[in-house]
Amino acid sequence: MINYFQKFNEIIKKEKEEGKKKKLLLHACCAPCSTTAIERLSDVFSVTVFFYNPNITDEKEYDYRLKEISSFLEKVYPEIPLFEGEFETDKFYQISKDLESEPERGKRCYNCYKLRLEKTANLADKKFDYFATTLTLSPHKNSDWLNEIGESLKTSAIYLPTDFKKQDGYKRSIELSNKYGLYRQNYCGCEFSKR
Ligand code: SF4
Repeated sequence: MINYFQKFNEIIKKEKEEGKKKKLLLHACCAPCSTTAIERLSDVFSVTVFFYNPNITDEKEYDYRLKEISSFLEKVYPEIPLFEGEFETDKFYQISKDLESEPERGKRCYNCYKLRLEKTANLADKKFDYFATTLTLSPHKNSDWLNEIGESLKTSAIYLPTDFKKQDGYKRSIELSNKYGLYRQNYCGCEFSKR
């Protein structure tokens, strides 16, 4: 078993010692999950947020989550830029084919993590020093899979392994979401997760 949280701490320590604030592209699924991640990263890295979530198949919900993260950044971290990826739900339906009835944390989710991380890695290539995702905050996500996928991607940017739920990261995201009055959705994102 790889201890990704330890790997994260080692990289953070090294980057703090170098004190250069390298550029990090942070894939974000929503405002609440971004709170803890940004709190832990923004002192060490120059963070850019990337909202790429074609898995949010309901367009109204997609727009709502995007609006929420945008206003959260404007209010709390005005220095952090936000890039919006495409709303290409067709890509999500392609990777979900024949996996519609899989449970959360099953094979469909593996493909969904990969879709979002691949896009992030491609965007980070030659423009950022690191890339990472907020997805490891959620207790409903398989962080080992996320980190394995991230580390397997070929790009000039280094994948930053994370496990944001460690050290009460999830609890902290609830505190911060309450503090800033953020909308916390009650399902993951795709139509299948509403069940
Ligand atoms: S449940 Fe969540 S992670 Fe799994 S496929 Fe649906 S949106 Fe993606």
